Amino acid sequence: MKVLITGGAGFIGSHLAERHLAMGDQVSIIDNLSTGSIKNVQHLENNPRFSCTIDDILNVEAMRVLVAECDLIYHLAAAVGVELIIENPLQSLTTNIRGTEILLELANEKKKKVVLASTSEIYGKRNGHVPFKEDADRLLGPTTVTRWSYSTSKAVDELLALAYWREKRLPCVIVRPFNIVGPRQSGHYGMVVPRFIRQAMLGYPITVYGDGEQRRCWTYIDDALDGLVGLATSDKAVGEIFNLGSHFETSVKDLADRVKALAKSKSEIELIPYEHAWREGVYEDLLYRAPDLEKIRNCVGYDPKVDLDEALTRIIAHFER
Ligand code: UDP
Repeated sequence: MKVLITGGAGFIGSHLAERHLAMGDQVSIIDNLSTGSIKNVQHLENNPRFSCTIDDILNVEAMRVLVAECDLIYHLAAAVGVELIIENPLQSLTTNIRGTEILLELANEKKKKVVLASTSEIYGKRNGHVPFKEDADRLLGPTTVTRWSYSTSKAVDELLALAYWREKRLPCVIVRPFNIVGPRQSGHYGMVVPRFIRQAMLGYPITVYGDGEQRRCWTYIDDALDGLVGLATSDKAVGEIFNLGSHFETSVKDLADRVKALAKSKSEIELIPYEHAWREGVYEDLLYRAPDLEKIRNCVGYDPKVDLDEALTRIIAHFER
């Protein structure tokens, strides 16, 4: 099989490329290196089944060639990370909406299957400690709070993919990842796990925003890849939306404690009020986010195995190297 991964030099994309190469597939990636890094894929460059195009997904001609050559597309290229979206809202919206529009149009010309990486941010700030089901209502803040532009742009992507499936029979699978973590993830754009690990290992204060009681489920990259590849190769998944996450739930404060202990760090854990962490009016935190995993379990037997401590231990070991 020939696989195309947009955003293939990013954290998830580079691991996905490795996985498909290990399965014996051909892999081509396209990445503009805006948040991805050539370092993430350098070790693959001598593999004759791997090719890398440094370009933008908004470049229609480059994309047309790549789409024509592949059997399966993972569309991961997007503006990601709360901080990036807040600092560059216009560029984020353009990449996420126009990029996906171009990709789906080209994929439809050749009827190439698309796995679209959406986001758990889609659900917004739903109240109550109830895991999010794929058909749940969404609850977003006002458009004046920049954070919500990410959720909205990805919702447009999902709607486009669903429309292409329903009206044109373009095979699409929509995946909503929940806080995926692993080696190579950068803390530059807001992701809390690499930030805490970096802070702990360098002896800097570990910066917990708010009271640290906000809760997330962290999903290790290897588990996430099992789910992604399983969905991509399942006929039953076509035209459907799936959560991709784990049940390894904890609070951000507890995460900081675990990182500190596992990294054997002397760092202080500092509670930072939101108004000190963010400019006024750009950010609103989610107090709770957890996936309902029944649908993906039933479809592809998905069963995440790497718990949070094991995930953190592996990421710390990578950081040390
Ligand atoms: N967070 C934090 N300190 C940081 C970065 C993030 O306490 O230095 C918190 C953030 O407020 C949120 C949680 O960690 O409650 C997860 O943030 P992240 O940006 O990783 O993901 P998301 O908000 O999309 O779940």
